[in-house]
Amino acid sequence: MAASPETNTAPVADYDVLIIGAGISGLYQLYRLRELGMEVRVLEAGSGVGGTWYWNRYPGARFDSESYSYSYSFSKELLEEWNWSEHFAAQPETLRYLSHVADKFDLRRDIQFHSRVTAAHYQEETRRWQVTLQDGNRCGARFLITAIGPLSAPTMPRIEGVETFQGEACHTARWPHEPVNFAGKRVAVIGTGATGVQTIQEVAKTAGHLTVFQRTPNWCAPLHNSRIDAETQRRIKAGYPEMFTRCRETFACFLHTPDPRGTFEVTPEEREAFFEKLYAERGFGIWQGNFRDILTDPKANDAISEFVARKIRQRVKDPKVAEKLIPRNHGFGTRRVPLETKYYEVYNQPNVQLVDINETPIERITPAGIKTKDAEYAFDIIIYATGFDAITGSFDRIDIRGLDGQKLRDKWANGPRTYLGVQVEGFPNMFMVMGPHTALGNIPRSIEYNVEWVTNLIRYMRERNLTRVDAKPEGVAAWTDHVKSLGVGLLSNEVNSWMTGINTNVEGKQTRIIARYSGSAPAYRARCDEVAATGYEELALA
Ligand SMILES: Cc1cc2nc3c(=O)[nH]c(=O)nc-3n(C[C@H](O)[C@H](O)[C@H](O)COP(=O)(O)OP(=O)(O)OC[C@H]3O[C@@H](n4cnc5c(N)ncnc54)[C@H](O)[C@@H]3O)c2cc1C
Repeated sequence: MAASPETNTAPVADYDVLIIGAGISGLYQLYRLRELGMEVRVLEAGSGVGGTWYWNRYPGARFDSESYSYSYSFSKELLEEWNWSEHFAAQPETLRYLSHVADKFDLRRDIQFHSRVTAAHYQEETRRWQVTLQDGNRCGARFLITAIGPLSAPTMPRIEGVETFQGEACHTARWPHEPVNFAGKRVAVIGTGATGVQTIQEVAKTAGHLTVFQRTPNWCAPLHNSRIDAETQRRIKAGYPEMFTRCRETFACFLHTPDPRGTFEVTPEEREAFFEKLYAERGFGIWQGNFRDILTDPKANDAISEFVARKIRQRVKDPKVAEKLIPRNHGFGTRRVPLETKYYEVYNQPNVQLVDINETPIERITPAGIKTKDAEYAFDIIIYATGFDAITGSFDRIDIRGLDGQKLRDKWANGPRTYLGVQVEGFPNMFMVMGPHTALGNIPRSIEYNVEWVTNLIRYMRERNLTRVDAKPEGVAAWTDHVKSLGVGLLSNEVNSWMTGINTNVEGKQTRIIARYSGSAPAYRARCDEVAATGYEELALA
């Protein structure tokens, strides 16, 4: 149990800024604040840098963003010296990249590993934050920056008996650092979201027998990954400035941008040809570069959904299995689209079985395996690909208290309320990088912007000897209303998913909320730039 800050009298180490998390956000935030000459400490629960790419070591883990579009863009030298080996790099390579970044910029000396933050309390008398770690140690700082990740709080399914299983069991986001051998083993995978899909297609290559427990099928599309040859490498590097400019201009910072045409403004033949072209292209083009109305017009969405359903039927030999793999409760692209490599063909293998847990619910995990309503299965390994308590989950796991001891958890009981996704009224001097209500998309692009905005605000304050910044209630109300209004008319907001705050495995997360900003990234940045240009008048500075 962590000691509470009120009773623990151990001396407090003092810094200018405490950053929680050493993923892409935390590393870059540290780099930028050091440039201001500030004393910064990063507190990281894991034993190394990398965040998502440190924790998610499951087989098959890799990018859905093009590797090069995911890179940090701030250092020309870094861009020049790093060679991505594939268009969509696998986790070990991305972890090597982030480790290289940490070494190159000598970041590790300010990062404290094995340091899970359990509490962060603001003290108005000193205008400082006091932070408590799981081991009871404490530290304090003027500013607190949360870089704790939108997808970093793993969730286990709420199934009885999980702790009784005698074989090997692992959550994909808490994967062991040593390789797991599946050869000849009876393996279960629970979950078929983006992570489940990547895991299944990889494990099926070597497992003796694989049983997939599926509750909600997702609309998957081909990744079309390939190695990057020398000539392509040269072209990518020469094209970095234009590529990052393009990412700045697109809706969600991906290389792909929606086609300006409406789905029904073209002939059926043109439509089919366009869908075929997108299905044959690499990456998120079929989701992010499709007709402009597929995510807003139900009929347009039906058209692309029917197209992808046809593809599934063509690729899966057993028609009954194919039907089970076709989503019925949401249309294409209204949940995050998993990108796959021969995922559907896995179900043609004789050693792979699909169990629809809507038909035969899992009753319990047993010492030997899994018991459903109809059958008992024996396993050597159970893999929980059951995802994350997304966006607000990592906040909920810390006892964050602002003015007058107000808890962030209570403040957000009915959904997050933020100012630009960066601040929360009543929590002065706290900034969120990749918190709720900020632009996500191709995430490092948004991270770099968020970090630079926060850094500029801190610089502004230091230059004027200001020591306190808080969001104003009217600013929070306006931004929260704006974020909600952006969600109106989007088909994705009429669907249960982590993007609408639903997680059946987490108590209290059964009501839809608007947890993410769904406007365009350029519009988000324009609004934030405007606030900075007017001297942060919308914030309460003192
Ligand atoms: C499997 C997977 C694949 C993904 N693929 C893509 C992709 O292709 N493209 C894309 O744009 N995005 C992708 N994402 C999203 C990904 O999370 C972001 O791209 C990015 O890594 C977020 O970086 P971050 O630093 O903000 O958060 P994270 O990488 O999640 O890092 C947060 C860090 O904070 C630490 N932390 C959290 N709470 C505490 C605490 N209380 N105390 C101390 N430390 C704490 C965690 O240990 C972690 O190291 C993927 C996510 C997953 C899970």
